[in-house]
Amino acid sequence: MFLKISAKLAAHTGDLALARIIAIANQKGGVGKTTTAVNLGASLAASEQRTLVIDCDPQGNTTSALGFPKDPARRTLYQTLILDEPIERVTLDAQVEGLDLIPSDRNLVGAAVELVGMENREYRLKAAIAGITDKYNYILIDCPPALDLLTLNALAACDSVLVPIQCEYLALEGVSELLDTLMRLRRTINPSLAIEGILLTMYDDRTTLSKQVAADLRSFFGTQVFETVIPRNVRLAEAPSHGMPVMFYDIHSKGAESYIQLAKEVIVNAQKRVGKGTERADQGSGTQSAAAATAGASSSVSTPTTGNNVAPTGGGGTSGSAGSGSE
Ligand code: ATP
Ligand code: MG
Repeated sequence: MFLKISAKLAAHTGDLALARIIAIANQKGGVGKTTTAVNLGASLAASEQRTLVIDCDPQGNTTSALGFPKDPARRTLYQTLILDEPIERVTLDAQVEGLDLIPSDRNLVGAAVELVGMENREYRLKAAIAGITDKYNYILIDCPPALDLLTLNALAACDSVLVPIQCEYLALEGVSELLDTLMRLRRTINPSLAIEGILLTMYDDRTTLSKQVAADLRSFFGTQVFETVIPRNVRLAEAPSHGMPVMFYDIHSKGAESYIQLAKEVIVNAQKRVGKGTERADQGSGTQSAAAATAGASSSVSTPTTGNNVAPTGGGGTSGSAGSGSE
């Protein structure tokens, strides 16, 4: 369905030995987890990073947003988590070069319940993906809006957590609680759990509230907040109903640009970790300034359809990457 894209990233990381596994989690609903899984996944793949997106949410929104409408006959994560089917048998080609998908559907609601009585119930996803982590550069796990056993499986399996936060009232309190919870999990299910970054989503620079929330989060969490900000952008909301990532729906949109920029930031952060020799046990991302985070990479993503290059601003900083929300 999608046209294959070719992409080049000037500061290509080369092949990493094992995938960086990032859970996209926030128990609050509707903050942009799925939008981030789909569009960061596509943007990483477009930057020549082999990427697997795992839909760990019974709502199956990532699955449909990547072009797979409901199909009761399709094998999903359920078969692997509960029935021990090899993960390769449920993995789909997401029709974007370099991007695979492990789909979900509402049967996964049952998995959340069935897991309760199973041995190693928090570690079944970790065990399931252990054999494929050398096939990818990145594995993104889209979590449901709950701290249930599905989310715990994702948090046990991952290296780091990316936390999307909607720029709204009380966002600071919500994220503090969430980070406390994540750090408690380091003492239990995943001692090396790191924070990949806090991602400001649905940012509207026309509102004082968005600006204030962004400023508060940055002053409180500092470099743990991604420099890239995802603007409120109608194309991001429309793309899922067409079953495609936003970069295939409207590559010129602010939404597409912002997720390409985010992919660049994630890749640069990974390079820095490798440089420091702390790739899998770091305390968090974003330990460098905005300029440093983006200076090393200049990416261009081209599509045969348009022949246009999208060169993200690369300036970092809130104003540099957040759009006004207009297309
Ligand atoms: P849930 O907790 O239910 O899984 P979620 O955290 O995965 O939700 P999304 O499904 O990504 O959140 O987003 C919620 C809604 O907001 C969707 O309709 C989505 O299309 C829309 N949306 C997400 N990000 C943006 C954005 N930056 N601009 C405009 N609309 C957005
Ligand atoms: Mg979701």
